Amino acid sequence: MELTNELQRLFGLTAFRPGQQECIESLLAGHDTLAQLPTGTGKSLCYQLTGYLKDGLVIVVSPLISLMEDQVNRLLELGETRVVCINSNSLPEERNEFIRRLPMIKFLFLSPEMIQNKTIVTHLKRQKIALFVVDEAHCISQWGFDFRPEYRLLGDVKKDLGNPLTLALTATATAKVRADIKQVLLTKKANEYVFSIDRPNISLFVKKSENKMADLADLLAKIDQPAIIYCSTRKKVEELYAQFAKQFRIGYYHGGLNTGERSLLQRQFKENHLQVLIATNAFGMGIDKPDIRYVIHYDLPDSVENYVQEMGRAGRDGQESFAILLYEEGDERIHYYFQEQAKNDWQKRVDNDDMTNEAKKISQAQHTVEAHQFEKKKKLLDMLDYLEEKKCRRRYLLRYFGETMSEKPEVCCDLDGAQILLGTNRQRRKAKSEESWQKILEKIFKE
Ligand code: ADP
Ligand code: MG
Repeated sequence: MELTNELQRLFGLTAFRPGQQECIESLLAGHDTLAQLPTGTGKSLCYQLTGYLKDGLVIVVSPLISLMEDQVNRLLELGETRVVCINSNSLPEERNEFIRRLPMIKFLFLSPEMIQNKTIVTHLKRQKIALFVVDEAHCISQWGFDFRPEYRLLGDVKKDLGNPLTLALTATATAKVRADIKQVLLTKKANEYVFSIDRPNISLFVKKSENKMADLADLLAKIDQPAIIYCSTRKKVEELYAQFAKQFRIGYYHGGLNTGERSLLQRQFKENHLQVLIATNAFGMGIDKPDIRYVIHYDLPDSVENYVQEMGRAGRDGQESFAILLYEEGDERIHYYFQEQAKNDWQKRVDNDDMTNEAKKISQAQHTVEAHQFEKKKKLLDMLDYLEEKKCRRRYLLRYFGETMSEKPEVCCDLDGAQILLGTNRQRRKAKSEESWQKILEKIFKE
């Protein structure tokens, strides 16, 4: 069987992206597989295509409802009707209906909590399972930036289900996290496909600012291509929106919007009715637009992992793009507040009943609240170090993930004189080496 033909027949696509074919071939040969492919590569296609070529049910565990809905919608758009999603939003009668229809389902999306539900597991066991997929698999590891105790239990769930063939997917995992994923979830002989997190077509900028609002206004006035602006809070998102809505074709996007509003905004952005989207980092994961030229962080991300994910939404078409991080002194403070809040929420979850007993044990023993906090603090410090990097930002990011930089792109980062291309002047311009990047940036901002 020629896989490319199947890709064409089932998805109307002409060529695999790097990593997809290897991953699918590994699964078809019956090996558990870990695939670390950059955001936007098309990790979903790895289980979709494999699923179609194998008999039986594909179970996909995903950590966020918005991610699940996004995947379901994409399958529906492809004309696939045998797809269902069960999460905490599903009503009990819906759940029963889904369970009744299970033999007719091809793709089942479950939250990590739902897949521990005894009734659901009992029904799943009666099905032939083609593939067990764990999306965002870094959530398994306490060394990951997004640890979920329920994810840790997926190894037991897998056993319960009779050890089906398993695919673990992630975009951003350190070597330590990958080792954890393999240990919890995969057979010893599992194949691993790890692609660099590097995105050579995105050049990296940090702008330390005395007045971020003014700098952002400057940038926006010159940008004539699609851009995302990330903020840490809904309040800030709305504040910036109020500030700029009159001047620019701008929209905002955060968790306070309902599904309908969110998908409308996504569509408007995708079709360029909106040029700029201001968003919180929690949302926008489903943003599927290849020609985003600028990802601007108005607030500091809480970890290098999250930063790489978010800025990785730029330039999926491979064209030259720009990741710009604006920093004003004290920006990290909001994260201390978030960390405190997360600690309390975590404790509340442990104290209340909304964790399974097993998950509770994990969050209390292996992974105490304090350890989790410690990890988060460390990650924030690593993020702050990125701002202080003196030689090469790309190398810093790669190192963080245990990679070495084999080839420095021609236009790399502000530290070697790369420029943010704005407005009509989109020719590649390499700065004269005697000019410091600060001067260049200043010039651009004043232009
Ligand atoms: P990821 O999970 O890796 O971030 P997704 O699975 O959400 O990425 O896919 C991102 C986009 O890439 C989707 O719109 C998908 O249709 C598209 N895509 C996936 N594989 C290919 C391919 N081989 N050729 C063209 N587009 C692809
Ligand atoms: Mg994905």
